[in-house]
Amino acid sequence: MAKEKENENNLMDKIVSLAKRRGFVFQSSEVYGGLNSCWDYGPIGVELKRNVKNAWWEAMVHRRNDIVGVDCAILMSPKVWEASGHLKNFTDPLVDCKECKKRWRQDKLTDPKHCPECNGELTEARNFNLMFKTFMGPVEDSSAVVYMRPETAQGIFVNFKNVQTSSRMKPPFGIAQVGKSFRNEITPGNFTFRTREFEQMEMEFFVKPGEDEQWYKYWVEERRKWYSQFGIKEENIRIREHAKNELAHYAKGCADVEYLYPWGWDELEGIANRTDFDLKTHQEHSGKDLSYFDDQTKEKYLPYVIEPAAGADRATLAFLLDAYDEEVKENGESRVVLHFHPKIAPIKVAILPLVKKDGLPDIAEKIESELREFYTTFYDESGSIGKRYARQDEIGTPFGVTIDYQTKDDDTVTLRFRDSMEQRRVSIKDLVSIIREEIKNYKRK
Ligand code: ATP
Repeated sequence: MAKEKENENNLMDKIVSLAKRRGFVFQSSEVYGGLNSCWDYGPIGVELKRNVKNAWWEAMVHRRNDIVGVDCAILMSPKVWEASGHLKNFTDPLVDCKECKKRWRQDKLTDPKHCPECNGELTEARNFNLMFKTFMGPVEDSSAVVYMRPETAQGIFVNFKNVQTSSRMKPPFGIAQVGKSFRNEITPGNFTFRTREFEQMEMEFFVKPGEDEQWYKYWVEERRKWYSQFGIKEENIRIREHAKNELAHYAKGCADVEYLYPWGWDELEGIANRTDFDLKTHQEHSGKDLSYFDDQTKEKYLPYVIEPAAGADRATLAFLLDAYDEEVKENGESRVVLHFHPKIAPIKVAILPLVKKDGLPDIAEKIESELREFYTTFYDESGSIGKRYARQDEIGTPFGVTIDYQTKDDDTVTLRFRDSMEQRRVSIKDLVSIIREEIKNYKRK
């Protein structure tokens, strides 16, 4: 096995096993042997993914005055998918190996004629629609067919008028949504990277035609910055502009934010200039006027749309991979540590009484209940203090608070920092504000 391949497998194996051991991600329905490509987030993982989604929502909605949010139903009228082109075009080219019978997505193969596993001859490609079908109501006939949404974007387009008029937004403005999407992928894999059920974080930014190019550039840069702001190393992130022949039929331009996964560069997020394709097609199919009328200039137009579309699971995986490190300390001991940005870290503060007696746990519990109002905390009194720090490093907890005998005398504790392992004596009353400042000013070394 080539060295690179070996390293790639090693890191993925380590991440998958850490994820299971520490409660980040479990295989779905594991007690029944699992369900291919489906994963469940455990107690630590759910916090991590929630923080990723919150960081996105904060950056896209709460910190801006030009973007509002929605939360649309997963099931939508089948007419939506007819109008959007998904019924006809949302397909991947499927090929079968005539020898080993394995199935592949032809556009992801370097050699489109031969099986990457056994080199057998591949069949001609057939278009395979990725949408999951189900039935609405008790009768399973063709009039009851509905689809599980394969992207969150269409819920935004069909609500364009509702949102624009109810919140009195004027282009340029955006509508954001975070939610589940479903695609019957031919080749799911690489842990949570490609699954059939996943969560998306999408924002449709509506602009005046002619201003689209400038907003497209703006969003490509904004989205790249977001990942580094939350701790992804600059060298592991890049922008890849799509070639003209790669563009989807509706797109005028598209760029991927790519991450250097253990198997190589791959998509984290796509930013597309979708022109007025979506509003136009829904206007035509629904017969409803979806144009925007500018009161001041008296212009009426169908806005163009810039769409940054990210995956919550892919981003969570990238944050996990990027944070992972095995360090050898000065005394020769090694530790596994996750260098999460504190805003992304599942647990912010570990509360650790040095011993389980002499009133230290009582003081520790009091401190924890005070900190809980502001931060996610974890109380641990079992095992040596070194072991407890190690357990927290492994899930990326940025701060540890140790309560010892001196605490009883002077109301101070030891604040331990995950990355530097520095220990600082601080007053209990200052804990909340010190941690707040540390989170605000955090820079990954
Ligand atoms: P790919 O080429 O990897 O199949 P895509 O270009 O079809 O992805 P988009 O339709 O642009 O993906 O979806 C936007 C984002 O949604 C992707 O960048 C990714 O983060 C996420 N995403 C898409 N499909 C999946 C999937 N099957 N599993 C997990 N996340 C996904």
